[in-house]
Amino acid sequence: MATTLKGITIERPAALAGYRIIDAHSHVSYYGHSIHDAVRNMDALGIERAWLLTWEGPEREFVAGAERVLSPNLVGMPFDDVVRAVDFYPDRFVPAWAVDPRRPDAIDRLRAAVDTVGVRVYGELKLRLMYDDLDMLAMFRACGELGLPVIFHLEIELPNPGGEQVGGGPRPYWYGGDFDVVERFVAKCPDTTFIGHAPGFWRHLSGDADRREMYPRGPLVPGGRLEPLLDRFPNLWCDLSAPSALTALSRDPAHAREFIMRRQDRVLFGRDFWDDAHLHFLASLDLPHDVLVKVLSGNALRLVPLD
Ligand SMILES: [Zn+2]
Repeated sequence: MATTLKGITIERPAALAGYRIIDAHSHVSYYGHSIHDAVRNMDALGIERAWLLTWEGPEREFVAGAERVLSPNLVGMPFDDVVRAVDFYPDRFVPAWAVDPRRPDAIDRLRAAVDTVGVRVYGELKLRLMYDDLDMLAMFRACGELGLPVIFHLEIELPNPGGEQVGGGPRPYWYGGDFDVVERFVAKCPDTTFIGHAPGFWRHLSGDADRREMYPRGPLVPGGRLEPLLDRFPNLWCDLSAPSALTALSRDPAHAREFIMRRQDRVLFGRDFWDDAHLHFLASLDLPHDVLVKVLSGNALRLVPLD
């Protein structure tokens, strides 16, 4: 049965009835959705839990207008809101926090958050910072020691259309660096699990990653750099959330099915928004039962055991 919440109509695909679902990429204080709105939305889709991610960084990295879709009184999507959400619904949310590694006390604060709030994930990392920066690498290694997987947002430099993008503005829009940087930090932190996310990551499913659009469409081109990197680094995983993954995988659904079969132990269902498009896409691929179990919750439970 379809439900409309805050103007978004959602329906759990019939083919996914009975599956345990964990959304590994979610937020509150996001597009006008409060903590309670988020839970109502999850209930309508049968999502048991969501990893609740922050987006914190220096105020100068958020442009005017960001407050319309992010926190209206603080900066970005702050950890305070994650803490509040977990207080209200400890059985529905898994707390995450990507502390800015440029804060001198960042690692100490993260350790304290693990001890006091029960933080289980470092994410969402989304900073105008090369992710092989030395402070960043120290943070990644600490995450490895603490058993926290890292969700990183990667976005290549694109011309910014007049502040249309949250966090953009007149400067080119980028986060984390180009794709080369992924190889460097993944290689330097073999004991840390990294989960790749966003347009700068998923565009490399195809060989035409140099196209100057945020979400390239059309047939896949051979020579994508993502698969060779996944072959080389078992600590690199994939976040299926957001238009970035969905658009890239939708370019060739038969290829998407093969990709998920091949990477079935390292892909995580997530949405990053309030719609049902990712669930319907996964349902449409006719994946074997055991693979769907892994993608919808099993892999998330291996990284962050709950029971
Ligand atoms: Zn996100």
